[in-house]
Amino acid sequence: MFPEFTLRYARLPERFFERFDPVPVSEPRLVAFNRPLAEELGFDLEAFDEHQAAVWFSGNAVPAGAEPLAQAYAGHQFGTFVPRLGDGRAVLLGEVTDRQARLRDIQLKGAGRTPFSRGADGRAPLGPVLREYLVSEAMHGLGIPTTRALAAVTTGERVFRRVPEPGAVLTRVAASHLRVGTFQYFAARGDVEAIRTLADMAIERHYPELLGPELADVDEAGRYLALIEAVQARQAALVAKWMGVGFIHGVMNTDNTTISGETIDYGPCAFMESYDPRTVFSSIDEGERYAYANQPWIVQWNLARLAETLLPLIDADQERAVELATALIQAYPERYEREWLAVMRAKLGLASEQAEDRELVEGLHEAMHAGRADFTQTFRRLAEALETDAPALLELFERDEPIRAWLPRWRARLAREDVGTAEIATRLRAVNPAYIPRNHKVEEALAAAAEHDDFGPFEALREVLASPFAEQPGREAYAMPAPPSERVFRTFC
Ligand code: AMP
Ligand code: MG
Ligand code: MG
Repeated sequence: MFPEFTLRYARLPERFFERFDPVPVSEPRLVAFNRPLAEELGFDLEAFDEHQAAVWFSGNAVPAGAEPLAQAYAGHQFGTFVPRLGDGRAVLLGEVTDRQARLRDIQLKGAGRTPFSRGADGRAPLGPVLREYLVSEAMHGLGIPTTRALAAVTTGERVFRRVPEPGAVLTRVAASHLRVGTFQYFAARGDVEAIRTLADMAIERHYPELLGPELADVDEAGRYLALIEAVQARQAALVAKWMGVGFIHGVMNTDNTTISGETIDYGPCAFMESYDPRTVFSSIDEGERYAYANQPWIVQWNLARLAETLLPLIDADQERAVELATALIQAYPERYEREWLAVMRAKLGLASEQAEDRELVEGLHEAMHAGRADFTQTFRRLAEALETDAPALLELFERDEPIRAWLPRWRARLAREDVGTAEIATRLRAVNPAYIPRNHKVEEALAAAAEHDDFGPFEALREVLASPFAEQPGREAYAMPAPPSERVFRTFC
């Protein structure tokens, strides 16, 4: 049933990882399995056997051809550098080649104590495993680059956090698990050879265009500068997309920033409901470092950390290397602003570009802030506000003068698009989701599974989130923010 492994990471020099077999669990049970993703990866589903799947996705047996390992990496956690983090509870089985000929990592998360575990238990509670499953698949449904969830297995063992919880293992699929922190691990050790190996692997896996004919005669130094620029382009586009759906990652440490440009590590993440740029959910983010509006600038900070690790490859003259890399990082704000404006224009139904668009976008944000309006529903209801008085939109606002003043400006701007309102309404509904993982719905699904072994709410939510742009009659409760009594203000990882 398992596709063939094409081992890459396991073939790197030994100092890149620790070989490590998952620690068996007492009673593995498959509680979620992502068939469409399994098909994409080349699993033979005709031969699918639930018992066998539970054995593999718990780590109780290692599939043929896999060479399990824990990856080494470092990272800035809330701005403080930790030179040795590494996979403390995750095991890379290896890479498989998917149906589109892309290499994908298959990793078990919660697979036991590794040489990188420090004091921790190497395990994952069911709640966070299901949260990662739901939210990463929701992000995929929203068209946002992300690691994927292939399977969730309960272990039959207890994991102790604030209270004892059922243990679980998540099977995560990623374009790769290369992070800014992977480069930092070797930079901290002065291991330039390893950084070159990583950079070449990153280019081969994620940016093969940098090896293309246009760049064939660029010197090596130019290629590594181009890598920084390419990662920057992907990360700028990624965070702009997060901003467009109100996603707050919560732990944007450099070890959680990928080189591929996929969203990774769904810990205390959550979606903003009423619009406030300072929104923070994570209980551990006391300084509000990773608040909604800070996210684009944290990406820039993290990219600067990546660039620092590559300096020795860029120019023997380090002053010159710093100059070149700094110029690239300083170009980030402009690139990000462009990406953000493109996302926001689309959310307003605008295909053309006009100089006043930025002010129009900001005007809506200010109106939402003033009215404490739900971010997702505000955009979703714009389609109905094209021509009518927009009662459904206005009822989202506690104070509605600013939005009432904004609507005529928006309609006047739309008049300069050369398509009719029906076409604009279609555009709006195609980019503004009706459904996001509402925090209270996620919590409800996790609690039902963890406390009552009831996976019904999880399954129902997963299904709703698979088609976030479609109207799903009868599922209005999934579209609306929490009633005040169920509002979630704090999340835990
Ligand atoms: P994260 O906050 O998920 O990015 O994790 C930061 C670091 O803590 C990584 O090195 C993880 O492998 C490690 N870690 C997190 N939870 C555990 C755990 N339960 N057991 C061992 N290591 C862990
Ligand atoms: Mg992490
Ligand atoms: Mg985590």
